[in-house]
Amino acid sequence: MSRVWQTWYTSFTPMEYEIVIGLEVHVQLLTKSKMFCTCSADYASTPPNTHVCPVCLGMPGVLPVINEKAVECTTMTALALNCTIPEHTKFDRKNYFYPDLMKGYQISQYDAPIGRRGWLTIDSDGSKKRINITRVHLEEDTAKLLHRGDSSLIDVNRSGVPLMEVVSEPEMSSPEEARDYLVRLRNILRYLGVSTANMEEGSFRCDANISIRPVASKEFLPKVEVKNLNSFKSVYQALKHEAERQRKVLGEGGELVQETRGWIEETGTTVTQRTKEYAEDYRYFPEPDLPPLVVDPAWIEEIRAKLPELPDARRDRFMAQYGLPLYDSNILTGSKGMADYFEDCARLVGPGKAKMASNWLLGDFSRLLNATNTEIESAKISPEHLADMLALVDDGTISGPTAKAVLEEMFQTGKAAGAIIGQKKLGQISDAGEIKEVVKQVVSDNAEAVADYTSGKQQALTFLVGQVMKATRGRANPSVVREIIMQELGGK
Ligand SMILES: [Zn+2]
Repeated sequence: MSRVWQTWYTSFTPMEYEIVIGLEVHVQLLTKSKMFCTCSADYASTPPNTHVCPVCLGMPGVLPVINEKAVECTTMTALALNCTIPEHTKFDRKNYFYPDLMKGYQISQYDAPIGRRGWLTIDSDGSKKRINITRVHLEEDTAKLLHRGDSSLIDVNRSGVPLMEVVSEPEMSSPEEARDYLVRLRNILRYLGVSTANMEEGSFRCDANISIRPVASKEFLPKVEVKNLNSFKSVYQALKHEAERQRKVLGEGGELVQETRGWIEETGTTVTQRTKEYAEDYRYFPEPDLPPLVVDPAWIEEIRAKLPELPDARRDRFMAQYGLPLYDSNILTGSKGMADYFEDCARLVGPGKAKMASNWLLGDFSRLLNATNTEIESAKISPEHLADMLALVDDGTISGPTAKAVLEEMFQTGKAAGAIIGQKKLGQISDAGEIKEVVKQVVSDNAEAVADYTSGKQQALTFLVGQVMKATRGRANPSVVREIIMQELGGK
């Protein structure tokens, strides 16, 4: 390639960029009371401003008291995320002015978080990748603003609810990886029981930092923080959109600025909200109303000992204990509800039938759950009922296709399989006398096929079996049918 040609070629090759994503997740903790006062933290379905007191209203002259349970939940999460827990931590004041902040500052943790330097393994494209976690810290939630026309209303019930923040390193390189990280993090929180971790309800909130940079470059370009993400889908779509927008800005010779942008679901775009703050904008300083938090290492060990089996360990156990493939084990343990349900059912169906239970759960049952947007915890089919149905398939009372229809009705009505089968007479017909009657009818109706069969054409037998199956609406046992036809026609 000539030098001139090469220069021309290079200048017209579009620059290749890679995506850099870091996630900040805010998690409301499942404690009885708020972070620094005795108000109930269970405010979800209560009238506005009914769970309040001078502390969470930010009145002067009151003193906060640290909620021990919130520290325990945060420590537990930090341990599950492989973090180091220093003995000495503290709370700091984060100063910023926004009408949802009752005191004019938020009590948070700045340079001494409860957990630091942990990690979480993701597996978005079949290969494992470790995403480092910078920190896990504890703070308080803000009040909620409701904008109505020209005015805004404030509900202080949420103010002071314990809020844990999990911050990842900027190590995810696609919206898919970001989604996988969030799904896995939510799963761990639910296994631990520290939060309902529900994005739609606001107990699991995500802000995503995203920037792009030329492939193989080590420098970071200005990042954009995307807010207003209230579902996994919106996180994914917003990141996809934002990466594309940034590429376009650079491609057109523009410059990127560090800023906060809000995701607008309706238009599928992000819009600028404000230029991003830096840590110094918050003028952090140690919270003078609270003593430093000293955590006894023995207490940390106590919490570590109480950690439940986590998703990865449970997946490995499913493979060893039930002989399930990796694929099944991964999906089953991907939600605590699904994993618990499977284990209840596997126990009932007995050894050797776990794979059958898994097939039904991941197949038809999951299809019904997805189609109706139902969580398995609120499904009408109990593990006992599913196990009973599997036993009926296993002993030949109902055929596979019938079982699918039965499952659907169980899903809609919550009735037991046996009741549905009895009511609708769906049981498989294995009674030779009953089948013989149908065979006789089919034989007299299909003289041509019978002639074909007696002259040695084996396909004619398949056709005749099919006719009997049709006449019995699939309820006859096909092997019994085949045998009876052969007897009737004098075959072997
Ligand atoms: Zn209060």
